[in-house]
Amino acid sequence: MSIQAIRNNAAQATVDIVLQDGAGRTLTHAALRAACRCADCTALRRAGGQPYVDGGIRLLAIEPVGAYGVQLIFSDRHDRGIYPWPYLEKLAATPP
Ligand SMILES: [Zn+2]
Repeated sequence: MSIQAIRNNAAQATVDIVLQDGAGRTLTHAALRAACRCADCTALRRAGGQPYVDGGIRLLAIEPVGAYGVQLIFSDRHDRGIYPWPYLEKLAATPP
């Protein structure tokens, strides 16, 4: 199963992920930010911590990264997280 579309609902602070079969999942901006896998967030988790996610966090932009996935830019200036398509599928399949 692959992802057909990803849509930012700024007003609801959620992202819709539409799978190839048309099934849809909704993830919150906060959940996506918490799932960031950039080098900093990964190092933090290895050290036993968790990325700090403010409840008012917003996803500002979704930038394509070739055929690989997307880069998500958040309102806390966190913009280094790359979300490969398979990782987004996994997140969509197991909403928090
Ligand atoms: Zn990060």
